[in-house]
Amino acid sequence: SNGANVIIGRAVARTIHGELGNEVLSMKKLLPNFTPGLRIVQVGGREDSNVYIRMKIKAAEEIGIEAVHVKLPRTITQVELIDKINDLNDDPRVHGIIVQMPLDCERNIDSHRITDAVSPEKDVDGLHTINEGRLAIGDLGGFLPCTPWGCIELIRRTGVEIAGATAVVLGRSKIVGTPAAEMLKWAHATVTVCHSKTRNIEEITRTADILVVGIGVPEMVKASWIKPGAVVIDCGINVKPDPTKPSGTRLVGDVDYWEAKKVAGHITPVPFGVGPMTVAMLMKNTVRSAAKALDRQLRT
Ligand code: NDP
Repeated sequence: SNGANVIIGRAVARTIHGELGNEVLSMKKLLPNFTPGLRIVQVGGREDSNVYIRMKIKAAEEIGIEAVHVKLPRTITQVELIDKINDLNDDPRVHGIIVQMPLDCERNIDSHRITDAVSPEKDVDGLHTINEGRLAIGDLGGFLPCTPWGCIELIRRTGVEIAGATAVVLGRSKIVGTPAAEMLKWAHATVTVCHSKTRNIEEITRTADILVVGIGVPEMVKASWIKPGAVVIDCGINVKPDPTKPSGTRLVGDVDYWEAKKVAGHITPVPFGVGPMTVAMLMKNTVRSAAKALDRQLRT
């Protein structure tokens, strides 16, 4: 057979950007000078972060969101960084704030303190403890973290029912594995979370109707790990040496894509799978936050 249906996240993300662009236009009809505002705070200048930030700013421009890249020096202290975030929390033109991680700083800064300094009302990355707690108890009215939310959207678009399915999540990080497992749980899947101490991991993954992978180990998940016909969502972004490419490298996921594709029913590629959806869901959270602010403005 030709193998799995390939889920092109980039195409879904473009559709979502189009829908969000229309929403922004209708907001401007209600209040002509209104523009959704996003602030992307970066400490230092990691090259991988620069690439992600450029992608976010480009998407925002397409949609009609004003995105400002707030660049801060590597020498900034935790107190100064929190002050800067507080200014953005208080700025009514700002509806979404993200702090690009990891921080590239000389001082000791507790990144968890920084995520929790962002107002939960403007936490469009969905990483504030309050938003995490809301998700954990099934209150879906807070901001959802962008990468796992993108995964759920891609699973929904396959037409495979999540309710009642056996789902396995590989990885338990704050930004990928843990919230992915929570979202699947509240979409009524039966969820197992695996991590570096899990024994017999492939026996567990082989039970999965839906497998979400976020481990950061290039091409670790093999065809033999996958139940025939399963939905396989690969969040991994790993750089692998490839002498046939002009850059000398290429991106691979945490799943051995070409092997897994022969067994899975639906699979996301890397790149152009989950990655673009992360950006799309960030935009969705920002437009949602702006819509709430506009609604408050119109009612006063
Ligand atoms: P982390 O390193 O924070 O977490 C990795 C998780 O995988 C941990 O829970 C770890 O277990 C587990 N793990 C690591 N090695 C193994 C192993 N050999 N077997 C089983 N479990 C293992 O990574 P992130 O969650 O931040 O990222 C995961 C991947 O997703 C990366 O490739 C990253 O680049 C990508 N990513 C992509 C994004 C996107 O926009 N598409 C956004 C964010 C990340 P333990 O807890 O025991 O240490």
